[in-house]
This record gives sequence, structure tokens and C-alpha cells, in this order.
Amino acid sequence: MTDTTRREEIAAGLARVEADIAEACRAAGRRREELTLVAVSKTYPASDVRLLAELGVADVGENRDQEASAKAHECADLGLTWHFIGQLQTNKARSVVSYADVVHSVDRLRLVSALGREAVRAGREVTCLVQVALDGDPGRGGALPEEVPALADAVAGTGGLRLGGVMAVAPLGGDPARAFARLREISEAVRKTHPGADVISAGMSGDMTEAIANGATHLRVGTALLGRRKPLVR
Ligand SMILES: *Cc1c(COP(=O)(O)O)cnc(C)c1O
Repeated sequence: MTDTTRREEIAAGLARVEADIAEACRAAGRRREELTLVAVSKTYPASDVRLLAELGVADVGENRDQEASAKAHECADLGLTWHFIGQLQTNKARSVVSYADVVHSVDRLRLVSALGREAVRAGREVTCLVQVALDGDPGRGGALPEEVPALADAVAGTGGLRLGGVMAVAPLGGDPARAFARLREISEAVRKTHPGADVISAGMSGDMTEAIANGATHLRVGTALLGRRKPLVR
């Protein structure tokens, strides 16, 4: 495919996503400026990230360190904000901190200390979101709701880290509106102790509308922008 065709394809995807966001904002009585669109570029090449940037996208999300690291370095000239959204092993903390501005998947104390140590070492400040497992099954990443307050306190009290707020993925097969309503309650509880932690990262291609209706501030959208991903071979 030529670059022009790909550019048009991505521009069309972006226009559709923006139209859906506008519609959901109208329905929820919210303003577009309250939302950050994070374009999830996993499995797609750095050239797509470049096209997204040319089309005005400022935030990019990736879920695997090796792939993210290569792309972030290749696109370092674009001044994008990089979001790490995948499950994260502590031994990858040093690498992730070298390019990520925001880590959405902080779900255990050992990860908090590893990220803090590496952020201080690198002289960086990394915004962290506490990921919540809304179905009570931490298998896909995320802390149990009852673990969130202690994790939030730990992030807020760790040098090199800034507590941004909370993140969740809607449970498979569940009602996303209900899940995101629960996430909003958890966010409100966190903000009682940490008033600045106002980020709610919720909503993907299939459930943006429900996320916007329930107070999301960050949408993580891949498929609707860039197309369906090929199954991952690991
Ligand atoms: C891949 C991914 C997304 C984007 O999902 P789409 O359905 O392609 O929009 C969002 N959040 C996380 C955590 C992901 O891994």
C-alpha cells in the first residue's frame, strides 16, 4: 500500500472516531476538551505513528516493551506523549521509564518501587495510573478494588512518580457501562485522598461511548483508528 492510501485510511478512521466521541460527549453533556485520545499503535509500524502525528494525534499507546521502545525511539522527533498500557514485568521498568510518560498498568507494590527507582535514576517523572481488575480477576492485569487505596498512596509517596489516577479494561462479556460506573466510584474514592489524581483511563474501540458517559478522561483506541490487528504470534 502506498503511503497516501494508508494516510487516507487512517484519516478516515480518525474522523469516524472523532465523530463518535463528539456524539458521546453531546449525549453525556461533556466537552471534547475533557478527553484525551490515546492512539494504540501496537502491532502497527512507526510509519503509522508518524501519520497519526501528522493528523494531529499527540498521544500514543503501546503494550509491549520491546515494540514500544523501538517505535518510541524511531519517533523521538515527533514530541509525542507515550503511554504504556500493557502488563509490565519489573525487569522492564528501566526500559519503559526511558520513553513512557504515562504507565497505565500499575497494579502491585513491587512495580511501584521498581518504576520509582528507575525514574529517579533516569531523572524522569512518570505519571502512573493504578489499573483495577473490575471483574475481580487479576489474570489480565490490574489490582483488586480493595488494593487500590494502598497502591495509590504508594505511587503518591514514591519519588520519580506522579499519581495520575486509575485505569481499567471492561471485563470480557460484561456490561461496560456498569464496569465503568464502578471505575468512576473507585476514582472518586482515590480523589478524596489525592485530589489531583483525576485521570480515568477507560474505553477502547468497542466501548468508548459507555466510557465517556461514565467520566473517562482518556480513551485507548486502536482498532477503530488503524484497523484490525493480526493475531499476535509470541
Ligand atoms: C489493545 C489495547 C487497547 C485498544 O483496543 P482496541 O479494541 O483495538 O481499541 C486498549 N487498551 C489496552 C490495555 C489494550 O491492550
